[in-house]
Amino acid sequence: MVFVQAEQSFGQINPLLSEFDTPFGVPPFSEINEAHYLPAFQEGMKQKEAEIDAIVSNASKPDFENTILAYDKSGKLLSRINPVFYGLNGANTNPKMQAIARELTPLMSAHNNKIRFNQDLFIRIRSVYDNRQNLKLNEEQLRLVEKIYEDFARNGAALPEEQRNELQALNQRMSMVSLNLNQNLLAENNHFKLILESMEELAGLPDDIISAAAEEAKKTGQEGKWAFTLAKPSWIPFLQFSERRDLREKLYMAYINRGNNENENDNKKLFLELMHLRRKMAQLLGYQDYAEYAISDNMAKTPQNVYDFLYRIWAPALERAQKERDQMQEIVIKEGGDFELASWDWWFYAEKIRLEQFNMDEEEIKPYFTLDNVRKGIFALSGKLYGLQFIERPDVPVYHEEVEAWELIDKDGSSLGILYIDAHPRPGKRSGAWCGSYRSAQYDDKGKKVLPIVTIVMNFTRPVGDKPAMLSWDETRTYFHEFGHALHNFFAEGHYQRTARSVPRDFVELPSQILENWVGEPELLKEYAKHYQTGEVIPDDLVNKLMNARHFNAGFDNVEYIAAAILDLEWHTYPFEFNMDVNKFEKEVMDRISMIDQIVPRYRTTNFSHIFGGGYAAGYYVYRWAGVLDADAFAAFKESGDLFNQELSTKFRKYILGGNAYWEGMEAYKNFRGKEPDIDAFLIQSGLK
Ligand SMILES: [Zn+2]
Repeated sequence: MVFVQAEQSFGQINPLLSEFDTPFGVPPFSEINEAHYLPAFQEGMKQKEAEIDAIVSNASKPDFENTILAYDKSGKLLSRINPVFYGLNGANTNPKMQAIARELTPLMSAHNNKIRFNQDLFIRIRSVYDNRQNLKLNEEQLRLVEKIYEDFARNGAALPEEQRNELQALNQRMSMVSLNLNQNLLAENNHFKLILESMEELAGLPDDIISAAAEEAKKTGQEGKWAFTLAKPSWIPFLQFSERRDLREKLYMAYINRGNNENENDNKKLFLELMHLRRKMAQLLGYQDYAEYAISDNMAKTPQNVYDFLYRIWAPALERAQKERDQMQEIVIKEGGDFELASWDWWFYAEKIRLEQFNMDEEEIKPYFTLDNVRKGIFALSGKLYGLQFIERPDVPVYHEEVEAWELIDKDGSSLGILYIDAHPRPGKRSGAWCGSYRSAQYDDKGKKVLPIVTIVMNFTRPVGDKPAMLSWDETRTYFHEFGHALHNFFAEGHYQRTARSVPRDFVELPSQILENWVGEPELLKEYAKHYQTGEVIPDDLVNKLMNARHFNAGFDNVEYIAAAILDLEWHTYPFEFNMDVNKFEKEVMDRISMIDQIVPRYRTTNFSHIFGGGYAAGYYVYRWAGVLDADAFAAFKESGDLFNQELSTKFRKYILGGNAYWEGMEAYKNFRGKEPDIDAFLIQSGLK
């Protein structure tokens, strides 16, 4: 394939248009500026459309090579640029990048529509699909044919022309609405700051939290004051420790009302429009609602199966949360308080229970979980399970000075690719934690493997003063989690773009969540949890406390999460009315499931970014679904009496992480486990049984 002459832009060569001449072919970040993106995308789309035209105008009868394979390989330039732009727009954006994203969204969506609804292309694909059993294809090729055919069918390629046009218009508008919802949320995240001016307002807060707040204030020119933001590392510790009930309320209300402030960033109208568009789209495609459409492709198959599943956890979780609430109320009364516990009190009193009942002070364990230590723990676990080794590569270009580049070496000494680690919050980074890739594993035209470039991006507590960054227990688990997604990227064995790492959405979190099971195992803790000053290994009594505290707040965690998962499903199954009251709907759903006043769903409608984009719409349940899978899978290691059982880790790598191009969902799981998963391991693990 021939690339056009790299275009001139401001007198420079556009680096996005030629192969990346860097170690491992990572993007040449420092050479790319914002002006390069749009022309590169336009060229990428042009090339891909030309490749599609070539497939369609091929005079030979459609076959695997000239249609399916050619389609799978098309769009090389675009798939080089796309992850660079969107990776950086998530991890290191600025107003220029955001403006490009807004300009790009309708262009890309029109481009995708052109291909998705290309009838001549679809007819060729369908012809190969109909004839697939006679083509002497191997299993991987057969799956590729089926996946590509299903993609087109699910996108409406088989519909009559008028309806296809309607769908195209819906797709374009939906991508714009999603983008606006997310941009509003980002603005809302940065919009509010709780600025404190006196020591008295800081009552109860630990020193490192105060120092972090002082630095935050300094950054915005408010030196000498303290600032708390709506980022989790800021508001959660404040709610845990602040003795000022009025300020806890102020900060928490600002957090849960993001997108619900009747200002220019209000998301209510946009969200309703999105629900309306999704429902229309699903019905055009022959489904009753969006949930039915989205879930039909998952392991769960139907919304009813998901409801049944969620309610099995909801009942014991709610009962448990009510007990937790009652315990907290007792503390309030014992301390002479004459108020009823409210949602902004939960973290504060939970902290007291943690101390009283589990004798566990988060600040006491933090010195053992520095950012470096946790990384070492992750690397040690990868060594024990898969024989991997890690080499830091300061010679590999990065996109921000805080990002680290590591090379992964497989058991046999071969390289597996590059891992970027980007740990701390910045104004240009979206909230949360995620794993992405700047290039997925692939094969070049000569059949040689091109290694993946994977990135994990987090928003962990920054180092303060001369102390290293110390992670909370939650952050420690998140680090392992994201690395689990990364391994899934590195181990992919398939030969084709479409199927190499294709798994149902309710399977995606199995590779990540399973690693969270090892985090607190004493055998592994001894390897990495060492005091940052003394080097002393975490003492047994702290390990015991950690293990005992595993079920701490389990009612809250499950209720907060499942309430959000149910809210997501309710929105995507509701027979829609345009002039609905978003907040009223939310309240009705919560009343119906007997939600208690002291807990708010983990995400409320106007800040539920998981469901704004397509990714987790009617799919927020997938984390717990995968939770059942990962608890059951980890139970296999436990039952074997060896947490690092090589036979099991080899099978896990083969069937769950590596072989997605060959086996899917339940089939893959049963190949690993020898049976279907059982919900009990999950209920026991989370203290609900
Ligand atoms: Zn995940």
